[in-house]
Amino acid sequence: MTFQELNLIEPLLRALNTEGYVQPTPIQAQAIPHVLQGKDLLGCAQTGTGKTAAFALPILQQLTNKPRAANAARGIRTLILSPTRELAIQIDESFAAYGRHTGLRHAVVFGGVSQHSQVEALRRGVDVLTATPGRLLDLMGQGFVTLHTLEIFVLDEADRMLDMGFINDVRKVIAKLPARRQTLFFSATMPTEIQKLADTILTNPVKVEVTPVASTVDKIDQSVYFVEKNDKRPLLQHLLQDKAVRRALIFTRTKHGADRVVKELDRIGIHAEAIHGNKSQNARQRALSNFKSGETRVLVATDIAARGIDVEEITHVINYELPNEPETYVHRIGRTARAGA
Ligand code: AMP
Repeated sequence: MTFQELNLIEPLLRALNTEGYVQPTPIQAQAIPHVLQGKDLLGCAQTGTGKTAAFALPILQQLTNKPRAANAARGIRTLILSPTRELAIQIDESFAAYGRHTGLRHAVVFGGVSQHSQVEALRRGVDVLTATPGRLLDLMGQGFVTLHTLEIFVLDEADRMLDMGFINDVRKVIAKLPARRQTLFFSATMPTEIQKLADTILTNPVKVEVTPVASTVDKIDQSVYFVEKNDKRPLLQHLLQDKAVRRALIFTRTKHGADRVVKELDRIGIHAEAIHGNKSQNARQRALSNFKSGETRVLVATDIAARGIDVEEITHVINYELPNEPETYVHRIGRTARAGA
């Protein structure tokens, strides 16, 4: 299967070529034809499966092929809701990359930073808006965002929205969407409440499922060390001395725990940075970009901050503290071996 065979238009094929994508991933192969036909979609998929391109590519193609309605000179045509700022930024970057030859305009809005440049972008006109729910509602309340020109709505990581307590905000946004629209709904898991939400906002959806719920990727080698609490730190130090650990993501349960691990590692001369909800958005972005560039070898994260982190070539994921939920473990270790690596 190739991207040509999915009948993608030339400006998108050219961008995919630049990205170095040779073959569609399974979710892309399954979802793209349906989304191009304007159908609603229920996608059961985790990050790392290529799901962003699975919705971004057919959306870009539809928006390119269908001229704007005359009365919608500047309105938003596609809205993507994402649970975290990091994921929202990544989705927007994907639209920028895949849509670079389409001339479509994209923007991202999220909380924790000044709204000024976000409002400016909205004023200039946006085809594709990616947003976290809180900031979006805030901007809607101030009259900077109206959704009456919306054609396509994407709800990404719906189960995370529930976990993070955003589900009512999501419902409020949905209430403001035009009834006639295409809806794409993605979730890694399908708890009852999420299934109910899907049932209320989707019309005759096509169902696409790529990895069975809560399964880990075969290509990840997993090992467990039984160790007393006081021996964890020396063990971590020992493990990090291995040169094969080129880029490691360490998970702790709490923000405080993440800071503590960073301090302890620093004391023994291993530079690490933490990423969690108590850090400013700028500090989080900085830690993430240092990690991406390789300047920082070790990133210590809490689950919520790490949601959707898409950094290539993470060689090791370390569960310094185990999560309570099996799903969380799957998400954590899924930060490595991404997209078939
Ligand atoms: P996602 O599941 O959307 O977070 O994507 C995971 C990673 O896979 C991202 O780094 C994408 O750039 C990459 N990716 C997506 N589609 C493809 C493809 N067809 N070939 C290679 N890499 C891809």
